[in-house]
Amino acid sequence: MSKLRYEEMLPADLAQAIAAAPLAYFPIGSLEYHGFHLPFGLDAMHAHEYCLRAAEQTGGVVLPPTYWGFRGHEGFPGSLLVSEATVASLAADVFRLLTDQGFRLIVAFTGHWPAVQGQRLQEVAEAHMAQRPECRILVPDLFALHPTDREPEHAGRLETSAMLYLRPDLVEMQRLAEPGALQSITADCVEGTAEAGRAHFAVCLAELVRMVREALATL
Ligand SMILES: [Zn+2]
Repeated sequence: MSKLRYEEMLPADLAQAIAAAPLAYFPIGSLEYHGFHLPFGLDAMHAHEYCLRAAEQTGGVVLPPTYWGFRGHEGFPGSLLVSEATVASLAADVFRLLTDQGFRLIVAFTGHWPAVQGQRLQEVAEAHMAQRPECRILVPDLFALHPTDREPEHAGRLETSAMLYLRPDLVEMQRLAEPGALQSITADCVEGTAEAGRAHFAVCLAELVRMVREALATL
């Protein structure tokens, strides 16, 4: 199997990947408080896993995940949320550089608050596409990939289940019994299970792959 991770590639790998599919995945997240039981980098790790598993089916390359995100649980322990302008500027640079390298489809995929960070990425993407119409950018909404189970949440059942499935070594469910553990997160986190995470991930991944294949076919 050819390489998927951009940071591991040599020039020949990159040329081969672009020739096969001029597609780059750009996973974005945050470093943000996710309750007592989940890691700060959940959103980026979550987005990265989607991108890697989608790329196994669609081809393309996957950039290293970006952990710098904006707005959310500022002031909570562990939150390192940068300014909106920083994220927008970074995304604009990445879009431009990828287009210069020959990519013609970019999937900018935020695991952090799609309604806010995703919306800003969409605006940056539209500005880029207006200047560089040869490149198309998709900004999928993580919480809208599932047809029915799609309530936006923070560290609730969906994110907890996702981590129990993807990185159980990083989850400490017993911490949900500590005083104050359910403050400022979605309380149904206690219902999270690895099996629910696996099932939800599979449905959302299939939808992401469908969207990307459809966009690839229009290039
Ligand atoms: Zn999150």
